[in-house]
Amino acid sequence: MATFEVVTEAAGCRQLETMRNAYRQLYNATLGDLQRRLRRARTAAEWAAARLLPKDSDERRQAFGRVRQQWGLSAAGAQKTAARFCVGHFPKLTNSRVVQQVAKRAWQATERVMFGKAKRVRFKGREDFTSFGGNDNQTGVVVSVGTGTVRVGKLVLAFAADPDNPYHAHALQHRVKYSRIIRRMINGVPRWYVQMVLEGTPYRDPQHVTQAGERVGLDLGPAKIAVATASDSFQQPFCPGLKQKQAEIRRLQRRLERSRRAANPEHYHPNGTVKKGRKVWRQSTRYRNLRIRLANLERRKAAQRTSLHGQLAHRILTFGNQLHLEQVSYKAWQKWYGKAVGQQAPSGFVTHLIRLAATHGGGASLINTFQTGLSQLCLCGARRKKSLAERTHSCPDCGFTAPRDEWSAFLALHTGYSNGTWVTDLAGVALGLQSHRTLRPGREHYPGPGAVAVAVVGNDKLQAVGPGSTHGVPRVVRGVRTRAGERNLEPPVGDNGCGSGGR
Ligand SMILES: [Zn+2]
Repeated sequence: MATFEVVTEAAGCRQLETMRNAYRQLYNATLGDLQRRLRRARTAAEWAAARLLPKDSDERRQAFGRVRQQWGLSAAGAQKTAARFCVGHFPKLTNSRVVQQVAKRAWQATERVMFGKAKRVRFKGREDFTSFGGNDNQTGVVVSVGTGTVRVGKLVLAFAADPDNPYHAHALQHRVKYSRIIRRMINGVPRWYVQMVLEGTPYRDPQHVTQAGERVGLDLGPAKIAVATASDSFQQPFCPGLKQKQAEIRRLQRRLERSRRAANPEHYHPNGTVKKGRKVWRQSTRYRNLRIRLANLERRKAAQRTSLHGQLAHRILTFGNQLHLEQVSYKAWQKWYGKAVGQQAPSGFVTHLIRLAATHGGGASLINTFQTGLSQLCLCGARRKKSLAERTHSCPDCGFTAPRDEWSAFLALHTGYSNGTWVTDLAGVALGLQSHRTLRPGREHYPGPGAVAVAVVGNDKLQAVGPGSTHGVPRVVRGVRTRAGERNLEPPVGDNGCGSGGR
């Protein structure tokens, strides 16, 4: 996927904005219609009859299929509906292929509600609908790489590609599968982009190297990650530095709230709570400006998070491209650690990391937590549950101690799948520990602040990826170890034991 900014004058912007709004209205109309049909279908006798059939049976599936078909609850039904709404001035503003894709989105939202994956659908307000596109490069949004233009309906616009930018050059060598137009608000001003979904593999920066075949153990928490290699280990927060932006965002949110109250005193009870019912909110100029600032900050925070995730992922891959980590439920995390998870987005990070490992010729082993229980396991084979607050693994039986998360990561490194189960090779663990820099028995586990974990990537193991390889250049990877006392780096309630099935 590659994104380029569209170069256009005010007139072009206006036209794109009109199209975006037309697609938004079609989306809302289709969604509303699907909602109505779903409500009616659910009260129909056939639906009730289908519900009584045994679960996971073919007849139940077929019965529901018939009801859905009867009420037009399908992707095709949604497309028909959207086409029906596309009248008056809409055909001039829209492209039928894009309308189909918009209908598909509305259907997918409805489907989530139908299958109980979501409680309700969201209609898109003026600012909410930010992208539209087709599903091939023939009609709808059509990119012509040769001329450097994108055609949206009758509008032909140039996009800005920098031939010196290796990402751009790489992207434009590949066939465009399909594209979408995206609007981003930057400092309160709309900017337009064309995002292309391309064939082939993504560009790999020659400075990103990996040790092919080398294993890396990971232990993930809602806000923190521990990494262990055969000889070393470290842990760090997912997104160091994101906290500052978050604090600024909170200050702005409070200012917005104060401003809203000051401008609309009649909407509040004397005790400060909001009155019920429909009301018109007045927005002061100051309020509007603050809101733009907030949106800007949120966008920058998201960008910083993506960049930090990328750095961390590439750093982990320098140690090896065979990842060993426990399969965890990020959904459960979201429930328990909503705030930390929302800010650090571990699930997105893991997806990104695994994809990156694959493009570096490696892969990931997702360990079954229930079979292994790595956070409970000791070197001697004893199992003991830890409380979330216990940051150190300390065994009463054999006296072995280690930092909890790094220990889990090291165990994950030695866990593999054989004969249908996940097995931790404790003999291998014991052997590996003897020469391990950070987990070796009898050493002090938390050195002073600023201590670094150093991994020397040897020449022979360097696998260069991408064009212009750095093959043969030894690299030293440095990582700062977190201090034991640095509580502020961790989420409030202990932190990540939940991912390791140790509760
Ligand atoms: Zn033990």
